Amino acid sequence: MTLTGPFAFASFAESLRAALAPCPVETDPDILLSFSRDQAPLAPAGVARALVRARSTADVVATLRFANGLGIPVVTRAAGTGLAGGANAIDGCILLSVAAMDRILRVDPGTRTAVVEPGVLNAALAAEAARQGLYYAPDPASREISTIGGNIATNAGGACCLKYGVTGDHVAALEVVLADGTRMRTGSLAAKNVAGLDLTRLLVGSEGTLAVIVEATVRLLRAPRPASTLLAFFETLERAAEAIVAMESTTDLSLLEVMDRTTVTAVEDLTHMDLDTSAAALVIAQSDAADASEAISTCERLCRAHAARDVIRTDDRAEGEMLLVARRKALPALERLGTTLLDDVAVPKPALPEMMRRIAAIAERHHLTIGTFGHAGDGNLHPTIVFPGTDGASRAVAFAAFDDIVRAAVELGGTISGEHGVGSLKRDYLGLMLGEPERALLGRIKAAFDPNGILNPGKAI
Ligand SMILES: Cc1cc2nc3c(=O)[nH]c(=O)nc-3n(C[C@H](O)[C@H](O)[C@H](O)COP(=O)(O)OP(=O)(O)OC[C@H]3O[C@@H](n4cnc5c(N)ncnc54)[C@H](O)[C@@H]3O)c2cc1C
Repeated sequence: MTLTGPFAFASFAESLRAALAPCPVETDPDILLSFSRDQAPLAPAGVARALVRARSTADVVATLRFANGLGIPVVTRAAGTGLAGGANAIDGCILLSVAAMDRILRVDPGTRTAVVEPGVLNAALAAEAARQGLYYAPDPASREISTIGGNIATNAGGACCLKYGVTGDHVAALEVVLADGTRMRTGSLAAKNVAGLDLTRLLVGSEGTLAVIVEATVRLLRAPRPASTLLAFFETLERAAEAIVAMESTTDLSLLEVMDRTTVTAVEDLTHMDLDTSAAALVIAQSDAADASEAISTCERLCRAHAARDVIRTDDRAEGEMLLVARRKALPALERLGTTLLDDVAVPKPALPEMMRRIAAIAERHHLTIGTFGHAGDGNLHPTIVFPGTDGASRAVAFAAFDDIVRAAVELGGTISGEHGVGSLKRDYLGLMLGEPERALLGRIKAAFDPNGILNPGKAI
């Protein structure tokens, strides 16, 4: 790229450093490489030309003004725990890290809101809210390592979405920087707000393609009641899935998760928790309702009616937390088995048994191991394809199964992504979800926010 105007005689790095000083700018290839991918190893990634470590909104403004003037792509990244390649580098891009913007600015019990910089870890905010007797509900399994900005940009889900909704349901207001460096505020502290179009909601889940989030005002809830918990082991996946549908439609649950035998076995090998690895599926349910114990008793009855062969339950909070460890270890446990290609699909809840049947058939057809776990109460599954090699032929088979899973979810009325986002991994599948008029409108919305197309081009939309 040829620099023009005031930058014509300086190297790219010198120009960027001059425009941003004293904000740190890295150009060392090894450092750039280590920031060029998220946690989706098989999603496409390019080679970045610089990494900006923003420490303030002014740094973000300066970066975007510089990049917009020269038409240089900017990939915003936070903790890099994404699972769809959203934060992966694009050839020639500036990586804009907001991880160091990590202050909790305010927790306000009066409005039950918190104002945070984008790099605050989800768990840090949850802990601060809890200290003040409040509750930050969105709970991606990555909450200890992922940021509020990243959670908002991906509209992250988690186990408690079943009762409390996804990240976007808890965002009251945002401050963002537009592609040309303009600062903009959206939303309101008020509990209700219908002024203008809901740009806050539009920015939620936009995966760094519309603007850079520099401050978020999120809603807090009153602390939930202590939960009662149930673990049930099933002879067949179908019976487990049917029990899930029955429990979800009749009881007030705050969590309803599933793990298949492959996943349970991998977790047992990792944790030695004494899980029953001969069962076809493990279902975990939790309720924090006023009648939590009664709700879990109903679940126990429903599980037994669906031929659960072993049911464990507790009304003790600490014991319940221990039982949840099995589910939290699902992904790391499967990752130990080989190269993994993690999928994320969601189907309407009644279609869950059929989706689980289809995943098992896809594994058999492609002679692959697929460990399936997920937020079953939301119909959101993470079939994880495990394969031994990293060679092209192994990858091709894995991607063929991935393709079959995504298409099966759409055929059943579901979606190509329930919570991880589209990123670079699933962009080719957008056509399955969006009609031509919708895609064209999205293109015009993108152009209105980012006329030069510098923000995470080629991703998400
Ligand atoms: C072990 C593990 C468990 C996980 N469990 C869950 C789960 O239960 N539910 C779930 O939904 N996800 C889960 N994830 C995926 C991931 O943690 C989420 O997508 C998370 O929201 C990403 O946050 P991050 O801070 O790592 O963002 P990054 O990965 O750095 O970025 C993600 C996307 O957001 C954009 N972005 C980041 N910050 C900003 C900003 N300030 N402004 C604009 N755009 C921005 C990036 O460009 C990119 O497109 C899991 C990941 C791992 C590794």
